[in-house]
Amino acid sequence: MPIFMSTRPPRSRNVRRQILHVWLAALACGPAVAGPGAVNAGIAAMVQEVSAGRIEATIRKLVSFGTRNSNSETASDTHGIGAARRWIKGELERCARESGGRLQVAFDVHRIEPQARVPRAVDIVNVVATLPGDQPESRDRVYVISGHYDSMPSDPADGETDAPGANDDASGTAVSMELACVMAKRHFDATLVFMAVAGEEQGLFGSTAWAKDAKAKGLDIAGMITNDIVGNTRSAEGKVDRSRVRVFAQGVPPDKELPADVLLALRTSGENDLPARQLARFVKEAADKYAPIAVDVVWRRDRYLRGGDHFPFLEAGYPALRFTEPVEDWRHQHQDPRLVEGVQFGDLPQFVDFAYVADVARVNLAALASLALAPAAPRDVEMEVLRLENDTTLRWKANPEPDLAGYAIVWRKTTAPFWEHGRDVGNVTRFTLEGVSKDDHVFGVRAYDRDGNLSVATYPRPVRPPPRATAPAAR
Ligand SMILES: [Zn+2]
Repeated sequence: MPIFMSTRPPRSRNVRRQILHVWLAALACGPAVAGPGAVNAGIAAMVQEVSAGRIEATIRKLVSFGTRNSNSETASDTHGIGAARRWIKGELERCARESGGRLQVAFDVHRIEPQARVPRAVDIVNVVATLPGDQPESRDRVYVISGHYDSMPSDPADGETDAPGANDDASGTAVSMELACVMAKRHFDATLVFMAVAGEEQGLFGSTAWAKDAKAKGLDIAGMITNDIVGNTRSAEGKVDRSRVRVFAQGVPPDKELPADVLLALRTSGENDLPARQLARFVKEAADKYAPIAVDVVWRRDRYLRGGDHFPFLEAGYPALRFTEPVEDWRHQHQDPRLVEGVQFGDLPQFVDFAYVADVARVNLAALASLALAPAAPRDVEMEVLRLENDTTLRWKANPEPDLAGYAIVWRKTTAPFWEHGRDVGNVTRFTLEGVSKDDHVFGVRAYDRDGNLSVATYPRPVRPPPRATAPAAR
């Protein structure tokens, strides 16, 4: 249900819903501007193009390399991780050719010396496909989607034993590749990076190296999503659930020393409104609008004490999320393929629900396209605390995008997980919500463009009047 209103709140929920629909429809049919949060027909069309058949073919092809362990052989063209990465690169290059050559595909190579889980020095090779943004004011804003193409049998150092890795993580790799091929044919304001990384099972080597380089180059990564284990819909106990995908979102980072902006947010109890949580809210909204399955947001970094390729991005200060299937079956993760008393162990294609992986890809596509078409989240958003009052005044810096159409303020009760209210405030950089108390609510400011594409929300920092040198100190 849309949460935006441009008029005073009507009497009942039904009336409000009708007015909202009339308002949104009127704006959508109008000459220039769509209302904030309007459905974007281009995104809806792309979501339809995601193919379960292509995803199944990708997963089966990745399984055919026998093992994709980072310690496996690299010379063969049909077996081991070298063959797998050359095939992934070739497929992405084919998609680049078929879409006008804007998608740039490259290997990203990092040498890892011998250590635990790495018996001999190896090259960890990420396959990275970049689709540059079209709008100069947005091009430096980057969104990353990743899956790890390496796999493991029972022992992560074992490069010999078969490690089909159909679910962990050919499924996530297939999502990255499918999105690269569908989205490379379209144009976005911001830049998209589609990755297949390696060395995950030995210690997140590929993602860590890429995230560190990104940080060193000062890249503005406004969002990162890893899809890891997104293909199984039957739990170890036999419970089937194909209606949702879990999205794990970190709150306060578990660091010894917190950055100043995090500490400032904590002073106003913004612990549930740091960037990864705002990104998760945005992803859920995009799924509600365009995707056939729901997003189940989990306020946790990852599954309990587990980890993944989003960690190095979080550690570099970037907002990052993990997608994982709703129910897991550990007989089909990190296991040598074998039969034990009639039970098949191993991460084999027959335990992957390909139609479900396609639905997860649709959620990812809806989120990424919505992010890369929308303006940046507003910067320097401030809550004015000039006197004690029951109104709420917010101000922010104007966005730089030429297609910017306005801003919306969203708010909710402090105990509510998702935005409950929204107000389209037009193209201004300061607004007072009368009678909405900052003591009882959490606020965010979002920007929108002429097509109604809405940005992620920014949590405001408090601003107080500077102390006057001549005035007596207040007590
Ligand atoms: Zn994995």
